[in-house]
Amino acid sequence: MNKARRILLIALLGGLAFAAASCSTCRRAPAPAKKELIVRFLDVGQGDAALLELPGGEKILIDSGPTDSPALKLLEQFDVNRLDLVVATHPHEDHIGRMRDIMRQFQIGEFWDSGFAHPTRTYREMLEEIKRRKIKLQLPRRGTQRQFGPVSIEVLHPGETLPEEANNASLVLKVSYGQQSFLFTGDAELEAWREMLSLVGHDKMRADVMKAAHHGSSNGISKEILEAVQPSAIIISCGAGNDYHHPHPRTIKLLASRRNFVRLYRTDLQGTITAATDGQKLEITAERLVAQDDLYMTGDEAAGRGRERGMMR
Ligand SMILES: [Zn+2]
Repeated sequence: MNKARRILLIALLGGLAFAAASCSTCRRAPAPAKKELIVRFLDVGQGDAALLELPGGEKILIDSGPTDSPALKLLEQFDVNRLDLVVATHPHEDHIGRMRDIMRQFQIGEFWDSGFAHPTRTYREMLEEIKRRKIKLQLPRRGTQRQFGPVSIEVLHPGETLPEEANNASLVLKVSYGQQSFLFTGDAELEAWREMLSLVGHDKMRADVMKAAHHGSSNGISKEILEAVQPSAIIISCGAGNDYHHPHPRTIKLLASRRNFVRLYRTDLQGTITAATDGQKLEITAERLVAQDDLYMTGDEAAGRGRERGMMR
């Protein structure tokens, strides 16, 4: 091939490549699926535990459930081998009962604790394990913000001065991804909520999904809280037939009055609840199907129904 022909051929191939790239009718390669944030409110009986799987692959655990909870089994089931961040909202056993075992089983990147000193063996052993394993321990306060790729975590409570009661010292976290946000509330009671409602801006209080504070107790939720947060979904994490009568009749009445605007999910009746979002759309699914009306049973009514069916003590 002489030089002139070679130049002509190169120009021709270049032109074809350009045409293929710019052709408006050509089929485009499918865009990669947008990565999701998956939040699992684990069914750990009477307690709290939430596993977050972030779009970047990081995994975060907020509370471990009680000492007899199936948290370890559930974490293995969801392919956890490392937790980038573990949060103990407050030092009560139904939230930190399995923390020591979790630290022994999985590699932990960082640990957040409320710092509320609690004179129990469970809490002492948790702190000793953090120290023994040289895990980075933080006591974050209102305003602390942490970014994990596109997901941000902001601490809304407590402030610098800890309340005198452990529930009210609960770490309250807002996790945001795109247009969707989640509020993890520990066992924050009305005193803590009053502080948040007066000190945290209304924009920051708003969230799409809210874990009902204190397992659906009447002191963890109110009309004012619902009006500030404006959630479209609420998760109650409690145990079937629990001794505390959770959820409380007043909580159920309040949520039933809003059932057309706020969807309710319960771990005691539906098992593990999973919320998945790409930052825009939000999809929530439950492990077990339950009739909508049954979700509005009080703790005692649900326990009675369970006994009738021979499912509980
Ligand atoms: Zn609790």
